[in-house]
Amino acid sequence: MNSIEEIVKEAESSSFFDVVLKKNSELTGKTPDDTVEFFKKIWFTMKDSLRRALSPEFKSSAILVKGDGKRFLGSEGLFLSPVVKKAVGYAMVIGEANASMCRIVAFPTAGASGTVPGVLIAYQEEFGERDERMIEGLVVASGVGAVIGNRATLSGAEGGCQAECGAAAAMAAAALVHLNNGSPSMIQHAVAIALKNIMGLVCDPVAGLVEVPCIKRNAMAASLAFLSSELALSGIKSVIPADEVIDAMGNVGRKLPEELRETALGGVAATPTGRRIAKKLTRMRNKFLKNSKSD
Ligand code: SF4
Repeated sequence: MNSIEEIVKEAESSSFFDVVLKKNSELTGKTPDDTVEFFKKIWFTMKDSLRRALSPEFKSSAILVKGDGKRFLGSEGLFLSPVVKKAVGYAMVIGEANASMCRIVAFPTAGASGTVPGVLIAYQEEFGERDERMIEGLVVASGVGAVIGNRATLSGAEGGCQAECGAAAAMAAAALVHLNNGSPSMIQHAVAIALKNIMGLVCDPVAGLVEVPCIKRNAMAASLAFLSSELALSGIKSVIPADEVIDAMGNVGRKLPEELRETALGGVAATPTGRRIAKKLTRMRNKFLKNSKSD
């Protein structure tokens, strides 16, 4: 899958979901039914990881941020609609589960694993959609992720956070358009709008931990998915086609200096506070290693 435009053209006689399902099955040699079964497992694993992370038994081993997602979900709603608020909270809860080494689905990556399930599970809960349709949404999202990975990159170390959280936002936006019976062309515009508006975002994890800014970036990407899909569903178009936006994102990623590609040497990781935290954690780790040697 190398082109969103090609998928959209092929989808004229079927749907974006059908085309991605067919291409997925061709690539893996599985039958379409087996491919759907595979995505069903992904969907239920996503739901299970959120359920575990929300349970009172969940023990966070995050070091820098604990409980933000749950705190947010328990707070009074102000500006966000119920589904967006829930999606943002869920995205942070799963982001923390990832930081705690719990089982998550790296869809598209572990660092950006909160966005797609956060958006889709919140959507299902708020709008009462069937699992079968949610799995269709996941298939659509996977097609978008595959094109981004093939044309540009999905790795923060290669292309910055625009490639991880940006891709996750674009994938979730595509799924939302499909779930709302938007056309294949609307999916294309939602993807382009999401990626354009996150372009250039650097990867700068403080102390190299996938916590700060990562967990809140999943929240931001979740809200961007709703914005992009709603703009596209209202008939608003991206002047720049999705494939060209993806190419531009890949080019920007290649131009990012090494400090801004997951090395924890730039961006917020290089702020006085970011450096102080990194130094403190290094001191703690060295002390721990020294003590365990003398034991
Ligand atoms: S900042 Fe880097 S490590 Fe964190 S979510 Fe973004 S791409 Fe992943």
